[in-house]
Amino acid sequence: MQLTLPLPEFAHFVSSARPHKGRRIYCNRSLRLDQMEWIGFDMDYTLAVYHQEEMDRLSINATLEKMVARGYPASLKDAVYRTDFPIRGLLVDRHLGNVLKMDRYKYVKRAYHGLRELSKDERREAYHRRRIEPASDRYHWVDTLYGLSEVSVYAAVVEHLSGESETPDYDQIFADVRDCIDQSHQDGSILDHIEADHPRYVWRDPRIAAALDHLRDSGKRLFVVTNSHAPYTRRMMRYLLGEDWQWRFDLVITASKKPRFFTEERPFHEVRGDDEDVELVLAKSLELGSKKIYAGGNVETLQAALGCDPDRVLYVGDHIFGDVLRAKKKTAWRTMMIIQEMGDELHAHAAVEHSIAQLDMLSIQRRRLENDLRIFQRRLRALEELDEEGAAHEAEIARNKREVGRLTRRVRSLRHEFDELENAIAHRFHPYWGSLFKAAGESSSFGHQVETYADIYTSHVSNLLNYSASHYFESPRDLMPHELG
Ligand SMILES: [Mg+2]
Repeated sequence: MQLTLPLPEFAHFVSSARPHKGRRIYCNRSLRLDQMEWIGFDMDYTLAVYHQEEMDRLSINATLEKMVARGYPASLKDAVYRTDFPIRGLLVDRHLGNVLKMDRYKYVKRAYHGLRELSKDERREAYHRRRIEPASDRYHWVDTLYGLSEVSVYAAVVEHLSGESETPDYDQIFADVRDCIDQSHQDGSILDHIEADHPRYVWRDPRIAAALDHLRDSGKRLFVVTNSHAPYTRRMMRYLLGEDWQWRFDLVITASKKPRFFTEERPFHEVRGDDEDVELVLAKSLELGSKKIYAGGNVETLQAALGCDPDRVLYVGDHIFGDVLRAKKKTAWRTMMIIQEMGDELHAHAAVEHSIAQLDMLSIQRRRLENDLRIFQRRLRALEELDEEGAAHEAEIARNKREVGRLTRRVRSLRHEFDELENAIAHRFHPYWGSLFKAAGESSSFGHQVETYADIYTSHVSNLLNYSASHYFESPRDLMPHELG
């Protein structure tokens, strides 16, 4: 008779081989999973993976109807809406009606007005002469998948109105777009549709339950902190994990109002009653494993209830500002970020690997030639000065001039080749913006935030299933420029 080994930790852990790239968890800051006692999850876009295209369409249509009702031209309903236009990490300039992508130094690398890309000169004129203040009222930072549709609508409205003789009030347009989207969320124009047809809007990851069980079987305790309200959360969780979803979690907190959950001291309420008739009762304490659902609250009280050191808590979310950045700044929680776009990004990366190597070669060649050019230019100047003093070096001057001309043409053509290849690579990632994580050779502003605030990151929560619950995620060793060869 064959005995089964009682090692629950390995029950779901199929293979020790390195998972496929799209299923891997990537590490910025080393993290020992065995030291994590609690693992907390955001719900929307983390446990619940929305179909982006369907969500955008729903949100755009609901918003437009409200915009037209506010007095915007009815022709807006027939305007072109590109749901593939925005990516996360863009900055909306509400004064000029532009959408920008910055690198980690807040230098604007690409910009669009409507769907028209700004030229280098236009970008320079508008953004490179003074420092950009992304946190000021002039700008709006888009870092959620949920926020992408507002960029699609804004760009389309700017495009639509840009032919008008009077310059539109870009700031007001953005305020209206935001307002209409918020209203659509509040009045049920969006949520009711989702709830009426979960499969259309939400992808039920078939491995999600197993991934949560894998963690629980290894002795970890799980909680949820979501901004969604209790009835919506309950229905979504039922769809994702089945009728008895709640036993997997020792604590469920809804309507948490992150990021304020991390910064304000609001009390917890217990949610009583059924979905149709919700009653909120002030909670004196948080009861773990009680199957109660809470609303509101704050991180301090939660941390006290968890009863472990804060650095033994891993929080998993998709939103840089609401989930990951605030958690990092206000607590010692470790963070895992869910980046749904990883799959596409990795695909694109694999497809252009060869071109990137070629680009590096071109860059080295260009630098060498530019250097040679500078040497010949200097020599030519020196010879010409000598000539003014009466010394005739005509043959030498002519030779240098030819060389300067040849090198200038060569540098110009290399620069052109470099730009073309760089654009082709960017286009493979995204037709408008290039890579999510990179801006030319630098990290993009978004990529930089992921690096800074997410200890580990991956495409889906269920990728945890590919790792033992005692896995040591090890960050690549950082090297400063002076340490490189
Ligand atoms: Mg979320």
